[in-house]
Amino acid sequence: MNIIRILALTGLVLSLGMSSVTIAQQQSPTRSITQITGDLYRGQNNNHFTVFLVTDEGIILTDPINTGFASWLKSELDARFDVPVRYVLYSHHHGDHASGGDVFADTAQFVGHENMLNHLAMPPESTPLPLEGQYAIAATMDANGNGLIEQDEASGAVLANFIGFDANGDGMLNGAEVLRGPLSEVRPPETTYSTSTVISLGGKEVNMTWVGEMNHSMDMSVITFPEERAMHIVDFVTFQRLPYREMDFENGLFDEWMAAIQQWEATAKEYDFISPGHGPLGDASDVTQWRRYLEQLRNAVAQGIAAGQSLEEMRESIEIEEYSDWNGYSWLHENVLGMYHFLTD
Ligand SMILES: [Zn+2]
Repeated sequence: MNIIRILALTGLVLSLGMSSVTIAQQQSPTRSITQITGDLYRGQNNNHFTVFLVTDEGIILTDPINTGFASWLKSELDARFDVPVRYVLYSHHHGDHASGGDVFADTAQFVGHENMLNHLAMPPESTPLPLEGQYAIAATMDANGNGLIEQDEASGAVLANFIGFDANGDGMLNGAEVLRGPLSEVRPPETTYSTSTVISLGGKEVNMTWVGEMNHSMDMSVITFPEERAMHIVDFVTFQRLPYREMDFENGLFDEWMAAIQQWEATAKEYDFISPGHGPLGDASDVTQWRRYLEQLRNAVAQGIAAGQSLEEMRESIEIEEYSDWNGYSWLHENVLGMYHFLTD
């Protein structure tokens, strides 16, 4: 009897242990909260980071990242600080940073640059599946050729973000939904600004400044915490990670991007803590490293063009050894393609 009971218990423990390991391997994200300085903290969800400032009257949060993270963060904030989130300040509209805001809708106001509303607007229903851009791959999945991507046709990033794309929830993606991007879980800002704005709460101030028009998006805000000497800067600058894949070359505006980087590199020198949306907490020198990477990439591609190399030859041959230890170095050949288009389109 005892032996049977012990065996049964052992079996139960083993099976629970197995399933928890399996779940951990499949889906458990890396989440953390770390103090930057004073009442300013950094939240992590895998490779994405946000920042929040705690005041006596509530919390000012930047990007909510996604619904799962936002729900986890809300319970952590309730337990640690016992004040509600009063503001959600968006860096920009992209679904991998701006999703999940509904979790805080009971208590928070949502603020973003005015162009965020244009990015969130659904294109005309007649829009065909896009043939360029980050999700052009979707068009290749239309096996039955009906101009729609049904869920069983979708794969890769399109399948992984299917609910985010499927704004009308009909189980298939039309061209407009693919072109707009996976934005279904992005709560639109009810307060927008055009050049800069100041958010005040509990005796603290946070500034949002529009970065200007550039390839990555038209609605990018840098969010600064003057008293804490800290800055939250997302996607147009990242630390110790290459630019994402093809760098949104189809939007042009590389010179505008570089000008924005240089402007914020100079501004970053006035701050002690620079928290990027991707990568570790750093300082102005990390912004300089990022600018230098893009300059080296531009120079390498320009030299290849001048030497008569084809794009394919450049994609295969260009290396920027100094940055080979950065995350996303395997995207270099896609960075080369993007830069080639920036320089020749
Ligand atoms: Zn982005």
